[in-house]
Amino acid sequence: MTAAPETAAPPAPAAARVSLVGMSRAELGDALAAAGVPAREMKMRVAQLFQWIYFHGATDFSQMLNVAKALRGKLAELYTLDRPAIVAEQISADGTRKWLLRMNPTGPLDKGAEIECVYIPESYRGTLCVSSQVGCTLNCSFCHTGTQKLVRNLTHREIVAQLMVARDRLGDFPGRERPTDGLVPSGEGVRAVSNIVFMGMGEPLYNFDAVREAIALMSDGDGLSLSKRRITVSTAGVVPDIGRLGAECGAMLAISLHATNDRLRDELVPLNKRYPIAELMQACRDYPGASNARRITFEYVMLKGVNDTPAEAKALVRLLKGVPAKINLIPFNPWPGTKYECSDWATIERFSDIVFDAGYASPVRTPRGRDILAACGQLKSETEKLRARARLMLEQQLALGAD
Ligand code: SAH
Repeated sequence: MTAAPETAAPPAPAAARVSLVGMSRAELGDALAAAGVPAREMKMRVAQLFQWIYFHGATDFSQMLNVAKALRGKLAELYTLDRPAIVAEQISADGTRKWLLRMNPTGPLDKGAEIECVYIPESYRGTLCVSSQVGCTLNCSFCHTGTQKLVRNLTHREIVAQLMVARDRLGDFPGRERPTDGLVPSGEGVRAVSNIVFMGMGEPLYNFDAVREAIALMSDGDGLSLSKRRITVSTAGVVPDIGRLGAECGAMLAISLHATNDRLRDELVPLNKRYPIAELMQACRDYPGASNARRITFEYVMLKGVNDTPAEAKALVRLLKGVPAKINLIPFNPWPGTKYECSDWATIERFSDIVFDAGYASPVRTPRGRDILAACGQLKSETEKLRARARLMLEQQLALGAD
Protein backbone atom coordinates (compact mmCIF):
# COMPACT_ATOMS: atom_id res chain seq x y z
CA MET A 1 0.00 0.00 0.00
CA THR A 2 1.34 3.42 -0.81
CA ALA A 3 0.54 6.35 1.44
CA ALA A 4 -1.24 9.26 -0.17
CA PRO A 5 1.12 12.19 -0.58
CA GLU A 6 0.54 14.82 2.07
CA THR A 7 0.63 17.64 -0.43
CA ALA A 8 -0.15 17.80 -4.10
CA ALA A 9 2.89 19.87 -5.07
CA PRO A 10 6.43 18.83 -4.20
CA PRO A 11 8.06 21.12 -1.63
CA ALA A 12 9.97 24.13 -2.95
CA PRO A 13 13.74 23.71 -2.86
CA ALA A 14 15.05 24.24 0.67
CA ALA A 15 16.88 27.43 -0.24
CA ALA A 16 13.60 29.12 -1.15
CA ARG A 17 11.94 28.07 2.08
CA VAL A 18 12.56 29.97 5.29
CA SER A 19 13.45 28.20 8.52
CA LEU A 20 11.08 28.74 11.44
CA VAL A 21 13.88 28.03 13.92
CA GLY A 22 14.67 31.11 16.00
CA MET A 23 11.35 32.83 15.25
CA SER A 24 9.42 34.59 17.99
CA ARG A 25 5.74 33.85 18.64
CA ALA A 26 4.77 36.92 16.60
CA GLU A 27 6.87 35.74 13.67
CA LEU A 28 5.46 32.23 13.93
CA GLY A 29 2.00 33.81 13.87
CA ASP A 30 2.83 35.60 10.61
CA ALA A 31 4.21 32.38 9.16
CA LEU A 32 1.07 30.49 10.11
CA ALA A 33 -1.16 33.22 8.70
CA ALA A 34 0.73 32.96 5.41
CA ALA A 35 0.03 29.21 5.50
CA GLY A 36 -3.69 29.96 5.74
CA VAL A 37 -4.33 29.38 9.45
CA PRO A 38 -7.47 31.35 10.41
CA ALA A 39 -7.24 34.01 13.12
CA ARG A 40 -9.53 32.10 15.51
CA GLU A 41 -7.10 29.16 15.64
CA MET A 42 -3.97 31.28 15.73
CA LYS A 43 -3.20 31.34 19.43
CA MET A 44 -3.46 27.59 19.78
CA ARG A 45 -1.46 26.88 16.61
CA VAL A 46 1.33 29.26 17.61
CA ALA A 47 1.52 27.58 21.01
CA GLN A 48 1.75 24.14 19.37
CA LEU A 49 4.41 25.15 16.91
CA PHE A 50 6.40 26.98 19.58
CA GLN A 51 6.43 23.92 21.78
CA TRP A 52 7.43 21.57 18.97
CA ILE A 53 10.27 23.78 17.87
CA TYR A 54 11.70 24.90 21.20
CA PHE A 55 10.65 22.32 23.79
CA HIS A 56 10.89 19.16 21.70
CA GLY A 57 13.47 20.43 19.23
CA ALA A 58 11.47 19.00 16.31
CA THR A 59 13.46 18.72 13.11
CA ASP A 60 10.60 17.61 10.87
CA PHE A 61 7.01 18.79 10.57
CA SER A 62 5.85 15.16 10.47
CA GLN A 63 6.77 14.89 14.19
CA MET A 64 4.09 17.43 15.09
CA LEU A 65 1.36 14.90 15.70
CA ASN A 66 -1.18 17.26 17.26
CA VAL A 67 -1.06 19.48 14.19
CA ALA A 68 -3.52 18.54 11.43
CA LYS A 69 -1.87 16.61 8.62
CA ALA A 70 -2.93 19.11 5.97
CA LEU A 71 -1.39 21.98 7.88
CA ARG A 72 1.83 20.02 8.43
CA GLY A 73 1.99 19.48 4.68
CA LYS A 74 1.41 23.16 4.00
CA LEU A 75 4.10 24.16 6.50
CA ALA A 76 6.61 21.77 4.94
CA GLU A 77 5.82 23.29 1.56
CA LEU A 78 6.57 26.81 2.75
CA TYR A 79 9.10 26.43 5.54
CA THR A 80 11.88 24.31 7.00
CA LEU A 81 13.14 23.56 10.50
CA ASP A 82 16.75 23.88 9.38
CA ARG A 83 19.45 24.86 11.83
CA PRO A 84 22.69 26.50 10.83
CA ALA A 85 25.09 23.90 9.42
CA ILE A 86 28.04 22.75 11.51
CA VAL A 87 30.94 23.41 9.15
CA ALA A 88 33.55 22.17 11.59
CA GLU A 89 33.60 20.80 15.10
CA GLN A 90 36.66 20.65 17.32
CA ILE A 91 36.65 18.83 20.63
CA SER A 92 39.27 19.74 23.20
CA ALA A 93 40.82 17.15 25.51
CA ASP A 94 38.94 18.91 28.36
CA GLY A 95 35.57 18.43 26.63
CA THR A 96 35.26 21.99 25.32
CA ARG A 97 33.66 21.97 21.89
CA LYS A 98 34.03 24.65 19.31
CA TRP A 99 31.66 24.78 16.38
CA LEU A 100 32.04 26.77 13.25
CA LEU A 101 28.48 27.41 12.12
CA ARG A 102 27.24 28.58 8.77
CA MET A 103 24.07 30.62 9.19
CA ASN A 104 21.20 29.99 6.81
CA PRO A 105 21.54 32.41 3.88
CA THR A 106 19.30 35.47 4.30
CA GLY A 107 18.85 35.95 0.55
CA PRO A 108 20.06 34.77 -2.85
CA LEU A 109 23.30 36.78 -2.63
CA ASP A 110 24.15 35.70 0.91
CA LYS A 111 26.29 32.57 1.23
CA GLY A 112 25.61 32.49 4.95
CA ALA A 113 27.78 34.11 7.58
CA GLU A 114 30.16 31.91 9.54
CA ILE A 115 30.43 32.29 13.27
CA GLU A 116 31.85 30.35 16.17
CA CYS A 117 30.13 29.06 19.22
CA VAL A 118 31.79 27.29 22.16
CA TYR A 119 30.46 24.76 24.65
CA ILE A 120 32.20 24.39 28.01
CA PRO A 121 31.07 21.40 30.10
CA GLU A 122 31.39 21.13 33.87
CA SER A 123 30.38 18.28 36.17
CA TYR A 124 26.66 18.91 36.41
CA ARG A 125 26.17 21.83 34.09
CA GLY A 126 27.45 23.33 30.92
CA THR A 127 27.89 26.79 29.50
CA LEU A 128 27.31 27.83 25.93
CA CYS A 129 29.27 30.87 24.80
CA VAL A 130 27.32 32.50 22.00
CA SER A 131 28.21 35.17 19.46
CA SER A 132 26.10 38.26 18.93
CA GLN A 133 27.87 39.62 15.85
CA VAL A 134 29.98 38.32 13.00
CA GLY A 135 33.34 39.80 14.00
CA CYS A 136 33.57 42.84 16.28
CA THR A 137 34.14 46.57 15.86
CA LEU A 138 35.70 47.30 19.24
CA ASN A 139 39.34 46.46 18.50
CA CYS A 140 40.39 45.67 22.04
CA SER A 141 44.15 45.36 21.75
CA PHE A 142 44.42 41.95 23.44
CA CYS A 143 41.46 40.27 21.69
CA HIS A 144 41.79 38.17 18.58
CA THR A 145 38.22 38.65 17.36
CA GLY A 146 38.86 42.34 16.73
CA THR A 147 41.33 41.46 13.98
CA GLN A 148 38.53 40.06 11.83
CA LYS A 149 37.37 42.43 9.12
CA LEU A 150 33.81 41.47 8.22
CA VAL A 151 31.28 42.64 10.78
CA ARG A 152 27.53 42.40 10.87
CA ASN A 153 24.90 41.97 13.53
CA LEU A 154 23.37 38.55 13.95
CA THR A 155 19.57 38.37 13.98
CA HIS A 156 17.81 37.04 17.07
CA ARG A 157 17.07 33.93 15.05
CA GLU A 158 20.75 33.37 14.42
CA ILE A 159 21.55 33.84 18.10
CA VAL A 160 18.84 31.42 19.26
CA ALA A 161 19.85 28.95 16.54
CA GLN A 162 23.25 28.60 18.22
CA LEU A 163 21.52 27.14 21.27
CA MET A 164 19.38 24.89 19.05
CA VAL A 165 22.47 23.48 17.32
CA ALA A 166 24.18 22.90 20.65
CA ARG A 167 21.14 21.09 22.07
CA ASP A 168 20.88 18.92 18.95
CA ARG A 169 24.53 18.04 19.02
CA LEU A 170 24.65 17.38 22.76
CA GLY A 171 21.43 15.36 22.87
CA ASP A 172 19.85 18.01 25.09
CA PHE A 173 16.25 17.79 23.88
CA PRO A 174 13.79 15.37 25.54
CA GLY A 175 14.37 11.78 24.52
CA ARG A 176 17.66 12.39 22.71
CA GLU A 177 20.96 10.68 23.47
CA ARG A 178 24.14 12.37 24.66
CA PRO A 179 27.23 11.92 22.49
CA THR A 180 29.03 8.70 23.40
CA ASP A 181 32.38 10.34 24.17
CA GLY A 182 31.56 10.80 27.86
CA LEU A 183 32.51 14.48 27.72
CA VAL A 184 29.00 15.90 28.18
CA PRO A 185 27.43 16.05 31.66
CA SER A 186 24.54 13.64 31.97
CA GLY A 187 22.18 12.18 34.55
CA GLU A 188 18.61 12.58 35.68
CA GLY A 189 17.51 16.17 35.11
CA VAL A 190 21.00 17.38 34.14
CA ARG A 191 20.98 19.82 31.28
CA ALA A 192 23.94 19.76 28.95
CA VAL A 193 23.44 23.49 28.39
CA SER A 194 22.37 25.13 31.65
CA ASN A 195 24.02 28.52 31.21
CA ILE A 196 24.50 31.00 28.40
CA VAL A 197 27.17 33.65 28.21
CA PHE A 198 27.25 36.29 25.50
CA MET A 199 31.03 36.18 25.40
CA GLY A 200 31.63 34.95 21.87
CA MET A 201 32.22 37.25 18.96
CA GLY A 202 30.82 40.74 19.02
CA GLU A 203 29.57 43.41 21.40
CA PRO A 204 26.07 42.35 22.47
CA LEU A 205 24.96 45.85 23.42
CA TYR A 206 25.66 47.03 19.86
CA ASN A 207 23.00 44.55 18.80
CA PHE A 208 20.59 45.25 21.60
CA ASP A 209 17.21 44.42 20.07
CA ALA A 210 18.32 41.07 18.69
CA VAL A 211 19.99 40.14 21.99
CA ARG A 212 16.85 41.09 23.94
CA GLU A 213 14.62 39.01 21.69
CA ALA A 214 17.06 36.08 21.82
CA ILE A 215 17.11 36.19 25.63
CA ALA A 216 13.30 36.27 25.70
CA LEU A 217 13.19 33.15 23.53
CA MET A 218 15.94 31.31 25.38
CA SER A 219 14.20 31.90 28.70
CA ASP A 220 10.62 31.23 27.57
CA GLY A 221 9.13 28.66 29.94
CA ASP A 222 7.16 26.91 27.17
CA GLY A 223 10.28 26.25 25.16
CA LEU A 224 14.00 26.43 25.82
CA SER A 225 13.28 27.48 29.37
CA LEU A 226 16.66 28.68 30.62
CA SER A 227 16.66 30.74 33.77
CA LYS A 228 17.50 34.40 33.14
CA ARG A 229 19.82 34.22 36.12
CA ARG A 230 21.88 31.81 34.07
CA ILE A 231 22.10 34.08 31.07
CA THR A 232 24.97 36.56 31.27
CA VAL A 233 25.62 39.38 28.85
CA SER A 234 29.18 40.64 28.76
CA THR A 235 29.92 44.15 27.57
CA ALA A 236 33.05 46.18 27.03
CA GLY A 237 31.04 49.06 28.52
CA VAL A 238 28.40 50.54 26.22
CA VAL A 239 27.19 52.74 29.08
CA PRO A 240 23.92 54.11 27.60
CA ASP A 241 22.53 50.59 27.09
CA ILE A 242 23.58 48.95 30.35
CA GLY A 243 20.48 50.08 32.27
CA ARG A 244 18.20 48.85 29.49
CA LEU A 245 19.81 45.44 29.65
CA GLY A 246 18.71 45.03 33.26
CA ALA A 247 15.31 46.66 32.81
CA GLU A 248 14.27 45.08 29.51
CA CYS A 249 16.08 41.72 29.46
CA GLY A 250 16.60 40.80 33.10
CA ALA A 251 19.90 39.15 32.24
CA MET A 252 22.99 39.03 34.41
CA LEU A 253 25.66 41.59 33.62
CA ALA A 254 29.38 41.14 33.09
CA ILE A 255 31.77 43.99 32.45
CA SER A 256 35.06 43.55 30.63
CA LEU A 257 37.03 45.92 32.83
CA HIS A 258 40.71 44.89 32.49
CA ALA A 259 42.16 48.15 33.83
CA THR A 260 41.60 50.46 36.77
CA ASN A 261 42.64 53.77 35.22
CA ASP A 262 41.49 55.47 32.04
CA ARG A 263 44.95 55.82 30.52
CA LEU A 264 45.48 52.06 30.43
CA ARG A 265 41.86 51.18 29.69
CA ASP A 266 41.85 53.58 26.71
CA GLU A 267 44.63 51.44 25.31
CA LEU A 268 43.21 48.00 26.09
CA VAL A 269 39.53 48.74 25.44
CA PRO A 270 39.37 51.76 23.09
CA LEU A 271 35.62 52.10 23.78
CA ASN A 272 36.76 53.56 27.12
CA LYS A 273 37.59 56.83 25.34
CA ARG A 274 33.87 57.27 24.77
CA TYR A 275 32.65 55.88 28.08
CA PRO A 276 35.34 56.29 30.74
CA ILE A 277 35.60 54.23 33.91
CA ALA A 278 33.72 56.64 36.21
CA GLU A 279 30.65 56.59 33.94
CA LEU A 280 30.87 52.83 33.55
CA MET A 281 30.99 52.30 37.31
CA GLN A 282 28.00 54.61 37.80
CA ALA A 283 26.01 52.56 35.30
CA CYS A 284 26.93 49.45 37.30
CA ARG A 285 25.83 51.03 40.58
CA ASP A 286 22.52 51.88 38.90
CA TYR A 287 22.07 48.45 37.27
CA PRO A 288 18.47 47.32 37.81
CA GLY A 289 18.24 44.17 39.87
CA ALA A 290 21.86 44.01 41.02
CA SER A 291 22.14 42.77 44.58
CA ASN A 292 24.40 40.60 46.67
CA ALA A 293 22.47 37.62 45.36
CA ARG A 294 22.72 38.88 41.78
CA ARG A 295 26.21 40.25 41.48
CA ILE A 296 27.80 41.93 38.51
CA THR A 297 30.81 40.07 37.17
CA PHE A 298 33.93 42.08 36.43
CA GLU A 299 36.26 40.38 33.99
CA TYR A 300 39.92 41.21 34.29
CA VAL A 301 42.39 39.68 31.87
CA MET A 302 45.83 39.16 33.39
CA LEU A 303 48.44 40.72 31.11
CA LYS A 304 52.06 40.35 32.15
CA GLY A 305 53.65 43.66 33.15
CA VAL A 306 50.60 45.59 31.92
CA ASN A 307 47.82 45.47 34.53
CA ASP A 308 48.90 42.86 37.08
CA THR A 309 50.62 44.64 40.01
CA PRO A 310 49.43 44.46 43.64
CA ALA A 311 48.77 48.23 43.44
CA GLU A 312 46.33 47.56 40.60
CA ALA A 313 44.62 44.81 42.59
CA LYS A 314 44.09 47.35 45.39
CA ALA A 315 42.86 49.95 42.92
CA LEU A 316 40.39 47.39 41.60
CA VAL A 317 39.03 46.78 45.09
CA ARG A 318 38.62 50.55 45.63
CA LEU A 319 36.88 50.95 42.30
CA LEU A 320 34.30 48.26 43.11
CA LYS A 321 33.36 49.73 46.47
CA GLY A 322 29.58 49.86 46.76
CA VAL A 323 28.96 47.59 43.78
CA PRO A 324 27.65 44.04 44.33
CA ALA A 325 30.49 42.46 42.41
CA LYS A 326 32.40 39.33 41.72
CA ILE A 327 35.69 39.36 39.95
CA ASN A 328 36.72 36.98 37.25
CA LEU A 329 40.46 36.92 36.69
CA ILE A 330 41.14 35.57 33.21
CA PRO A 331 44.60 34.34 32.35
CA PHE A 332 45.42 35.91 28.99
CA ASN A 333 45.11 33.47 26.11
CA PRO A 334 47.81 34.23 23.60
CA TRP A 335 47.15 34.17 19.86
CA PRO A 336 49.47 34.34 16.88
CA GLY A 337 50.82 37.86 16.45
CA THR A 338 49.82 39.31 19.82
CA LYS A 339 52.21 41.54 21.74
CA TYR A 340 50.87 40.47 25.14
CA GLU A 341 51.81 37.63 27.43
CA CYS A 342 49.92 36.01 30.26
CA SER A 343 50.96 37.03 33.78
CA ASP A 344 52.99 34.48 35.75
CA TRP A 345 51.02 32.16 37.96
CA ALA A 346 52.50 33.63 41.15
CA THR A 347 51.51 37.13 40.03
CA ILE A 348 47.97 36.01 39.35
CA GLU A 349 47.78 34.36 42.75
CA ARG A 350 49.05 37.46 44.52
CA PHE A 351 46.51 39.58 42.66
CA SER A 352 43.73 37.14 43.47
CA ASP A 353 44.69 37.05 47.19
CA ILE A 354 44.41 40.82 47.50
CA VAL A 355 40.98 40.81 45.90
CA PHE A 356 39.89 37.84 48.02
CA ASP A 357 41.12 39.45 51.25
CA ALA A 358 38.98 42.47 50.42
CA GLY A 359 35.94 40.18 50.52
CA TYR A 360 35.40 39.37 46.87
CA ALA A 361 35.09 35.97 45.36
CA SER A 362 37.82 36.01 42.74
CA PRO A 363 37.97 32.72 40.95
CA VAL A 364 40.68 32.53 38.36
CA ARG A 365 38.99 31.28 35.26
CA THR A 366 40.75 28.11 34.20
CA PRO A 367 41.51 28.43 30.54
CA ARG A 368 39.39 25.89 28.67
CA GLY A 369 39.80 24.62 25.18
CA ARG A 370 43.18 26.25 24.67
CA ASP A 371 44.28 23.40 22.43
CA ILE A 372 41.54 24.25 19.93
CA LEU A 373 41.84 28.07 20.13
CA ALA A 374 38.41 28.22 21.74
CA ALA A 375 39.39 30.19 24.81
CA CYS A 376 38.33 33.82 25.36
CA GLY A 377 39.30 36.18 22.63
CA GLN A 378 40.51 33.42 20.38
CA LEU A 379 37.28 32.98 18.50
CA LYS A 380 38.07 33.71 14.96
CA SER A 381 37.07 31.72 11.96
CA GLU A 382 39.87 29.35 11.08
CA THR A 383 38.22 28.19 7.88
CA GLU A 384 40.33 30.35 5.64
CA LYS A 385 43.41 28.68 7.01
CA LEU A 386 41.85 25.22 6.74
CA ARG A 387 40.78 25.90 3.18
CA ALA A 388 44.24 27.17 2.24
CA ARG A 389 45.74 24.01 3.71
CA ALA A 390 43.28 21.81 1.81
CA ARG A 391 44.10 23.63 -1.43
CA LEU A 392 47.81 23.21 -0.84
CA MET A 393 47.40 19.49 -0.21
CA LEU A 394 45.39 19.12 -3.39
CA GLU A 395 48.03 20.97 -5.39
CA GLN A 396 50.75 18.77 -3.90
CA GLN A 397 48.77 15.65 -4.76
CA LEU A 398 48.26 16.85 -8.32
CA ALA A 399 51.96 17.65 -8.64
CA LEU A 400 52.78 14.12 -7.45
CA GLY A 401 50.29 12.67 -9.90
CA ALA A 402 48.32 11.04 -7.07
CA ASP A 403 44.56 10.60 -7.35
N1 SAH B 1 32.35 42.49 23.61
C1 SAH B 1 31.93 41.86 24.82
C2 SAH B 1 31.73 40.38 24.62
C3 SAH B 1 33.00 39.57 24.39
S1 SAH B 1 33.32 38.76 25.87
C4 SAH B 1 32.90 42.19 25.92
O1 SAH B 1 33.91 42.80 25.64
O2 SAH B 1 32.63 41.89 27.07
C5 SAH B 1 34.87 38.08 25.71
C6 SAH B 1 35.65 38.20 27.01
O3 SAH B 1 36.94 37.62 26.84
C7 SAH B 1 35.89 39.65 27.37
O4 SAH B 1 35.96 39.84 28.74
C8 SAH B 1 37.22 39.88 26.74
O5 SAH B 1 37.81 41.02 27.25
C9 SAH B 1 37.93 38.59 27.07
N2 SAH B 1 39.07 38.32 26.20
C10 SAH B 1 39.23 38.72 24.94
N3 SAH B 1 40.40 38.30 24.44
C11 SAH B 1 41.01 37.59 25.40
C12 SAH B 1 42.23 36.86 25.46
N4 SAH B 1 43.05 36.79 24.43
N5 SAH B 1 42.52 36.23 26.61
C13 SAH B 1 41.64 36.27 27.65
N6 SAH B 1 40.48 36.94 27.64
C14 SAH B 1 40.16 37.59 26.52
